[in-house]
Amino acid sequence: MVDQIIVKSLEEALMYLNEKPFLLLAGGTDLMIQNRAVSETPVDFKKDILYISNLSECKYVKFDNENVYIGSLTSLETLSHHEFVPQLLKDTIHEMASPGIRNVATIAGNIGNASPAGDSLVTLYLLDASVKVESLHQKRIIPIENFITGVRKTLLKDNELITEIIIPKKSFSFTSFVKVGGRKADAISKVSFAGAYTVENGIVTDFRIALGAIYQTVLRRKELEKEYTGLSVCTIRSKREEIISRYTPFIQPIDDQRSNKKYRLQVAKNMIGAFIDSMKLI
Ligand SMILES: Cc1cc2nc3c(=O)[nH]c(=O)nc-3n(C[C@H](O)[C@H](O)[C@H](O)COP(=O)(O)OP(=O)(O)OC[C@H]3O[C@@H](n4cnc5c(N)ncnc54)[C@H](O)[C@@H]3O)c2cc1C
Repeated sequence: MVDQIIVKSLEEALMYLNEKPFLLLAGGTDLMIQNRAVSETPVDFKKDILYISNLSECKYVKFDNENVYIGSLTSLETLSHHEFVPQLLKDTIHEMASPGIRNVATIAGNIGNASPAGDSLVTLYLLDASVKVESLHQKRIIPIENFITGVRKTLLKDNELITEIIIPKKSFSFTSFVKVGGRKADAISKVSFAGAYTVENGIVTDFRIALGAIYQTVLRRKELEKEYTGLSVCTIRSKREEIISRYTPFIQPIDDQRSNKKYRLQVAKNMIGAFIDSMKLI
């Protein structure tokens, strides 16, 4: 029999975590499925559980001149309608799960799960988001691409929890999130894509691409983005095939129940091509 504790404040949660490790349960939409022996059977948790979904201190969206700050336990549904949330993240969340799931699922849960197919992660990487984690005596702010270290692996320590997601404020000329899944929503991605660019006086001053479900973590190559920044839209479009081929070695998908390597590789390349085709002088 495992301990199951419902905490009512962040301080209380951090005090429990300071004593011993717990499985943190927010919305439970990943954990309830992962901890069933067989589909449609009751969950069987092997570790003591800390229920953190009641922590109202971690449910907010606010901003200052530089960043948008999202409380980690804000539901995906709340974020999908919130006026301060970047439009690209709202577009992404609209393609995640169903309204019922989104009402209980949290953004911290999507990050904590660290699935290569986690949809919000693709957009959070693209937007240069950071994750704030707290323990009783320490706070750390870590760029998301460093926080997630592999398939279902993060830098989170046993005595910490994610308390906030920080997204630099940035306006782009155009942003796009595209997901290929078995259905439009309520399906885990076979491949997902986020892109953004800014054009000033005909020159692309910001060019970003991120892909999900085609590598162990989200794929974003800032060194390639830099190479294609400072060029005109026409020049980037003329380099379409070159850009796709530069990304191709980094696209290393796996075969699983949802799709296979060959399909995922082709779809990922098509998504990059379609994004470049859609670029406008603005
Ligand atoms: C029907 C269905 C459809 C789905 N569709 C999608 C989809 O389209 N796209 C997608 O990306 N996902 C999808 N999911 C997966 C899931 O809903 C999301 O990953 C969701 O964001 C998880 O949030 P949660 O609060 O329920 O996480 P939980 O299940 O509570 O936790 C998930 C993980 O995060 C950790 N965690 C939770 N909160 C914290 C915290 N504050 N600090 C540190 N660690 C924490 C937990 O310990 C656990 O390891 C779907 C799930 C279902 C059941």
